[in-house]
Amino acid sequence: MGATGVLAAGALSVPELTGSPMGVRHSAALSGFGASGEVYKELGVTTVINGQGTMTVLGGSLIRPEVEAVMAQAARHFVSIPDLEVAAGNKIAQMLKLPDGYTVMVTSGAAGALQSGLAGILTKDNPEFIKQLPDLTGMKSEVIIQKSHRYPFDHQLRATGVKLVEVETRDDVQRAICDRTAMMHFSNFANAEGQIKVDEWLKIAKQHNIPAFNDAAADTPPVSHLWDYANMGYDLVTFSGGKAIRGPQCAGLLLGRKDLVSYALLNNSPYEDTLGRGQKIGKEEIAGMVKALELYLNEDHDALAKEWSRRLNVVSDAIKRVPGVTTSFFEPDIANHVPTMKISWDMKRVNIAPRDASKALMDSKPSIVLGGSHDGLEMTAFMLKPGEDKIIAERLTAILKDHVAS
Ligand SMILES: *Cc1c(COP(=O)(O)O)cnc(C)c1O
Repeated sequence: MGATGVLAAGALSVPELTGSPMGVRHSAALSGFGASGEVYKELGVTTVINGQGTMTVLGGSLIRPEVEAVMAQAARHFVSIPDLEVAAGNKIAQMLKLPDGYTVMVTSGAAGALQSGLAGILTKDNPEFIKQLPDLTGMKSEVIIQKSHRYPFDHQLRATGVKLVEVETRDDVQRAICDRTAMMHFSNFANAEGQIKVDEWLKIAKQHNIPAFNDAAADTPPVSHLWDYANMGYDLVTFSGGKAIRGPQCAGLLLGRKDLVSYALLNNSPYEDTLGRGQKIGKEEIAGMVKALELYLNEDHDALAKEWSRRLNVVSDAIKRVPGVTTSFFEPDIANHVPTMKISWDMKRVNIAPRDASKALMDSKPSIVLGGSHDGLEMTAFMLKPGEDKIIAERLTAILKDHVAS
């Protein structure tokens, strides 16, 4: 009794779970749905080998067996969610050695953290304002953002009712700041694109006493980013839980000033009549996030990066034997800062368009997803399970060989 369906299915198909030191209690063999140990197969949905990265559309990342075990423990009891949020947040703040006056809230994801973090800045602890959102009568109503930092996730900011005021130059910012300004938003991955960089953006916000938010959702590794921006002085910072940290897929972190985090909590589930009631976060995800971070912090990150490069080289060595195929390696400076391989070929010698090669990979058995664009494919190895590098190497080599011009 008590094990979740997820855990029970895992117990049938993931051997390392059986020997887990966590004292996991397994349920008896399932009958009905999940009995095969392959729930996706039972539903008729194809699983894929993920050589692209931490894509939410593919399910983000895979939690470790220890996280599964902690989530199952959390699932066995009732608990006050507001108490649990505060306790888990304080523990995470300690684990990350955040500056005095900072704490953490486990959210439904980085997107949820954007919305609730801003909602809290707008409403503080005023119960009328909390109920009133997204009607901003009586509250501040604008968020300043660099034009090059606009992105799909700013929808979560706009959902609070604020207007985004776009700026490009330093003068633009000075002109934009006024008594309606609630927050200055920074999209960390766009640091290189904007005229104003991460430290100067914060400095301007501080000069005007405006809270500054940094969305660093996909910006681990390096692991130090988890505390760097709080140490720098950002009032609120968010990370995805379900990307490289490999926490529960429906979890994220909102790090920040204690007052602002407490206001964010008030604007979120479990409280009803709040903007964030739809961003429910469960006891299982909250506990799982604590465990995922503990494991992530203790990981040998250099060894991991080496292993990811080794896997890329397995694929590279195989496909380069097809005449006309070349590979090159890079690491994005920021966001998904992991070894990445670009795969290109001379279309006169290997006559298949990258998007058709992508489709052939997706249609193969097992199905494989790589990133790509018009001029080639792109691959990362940090979401691969052991042995999947070899499968990708074989399949991709076969596809490219099939199209060698005669
Ligand atoms: C992935 C991502 C988000 C959303 O994160 P979730 O945890 O999936 O909600 C927000 N901002 C950026 C920059 C991201 O990369």
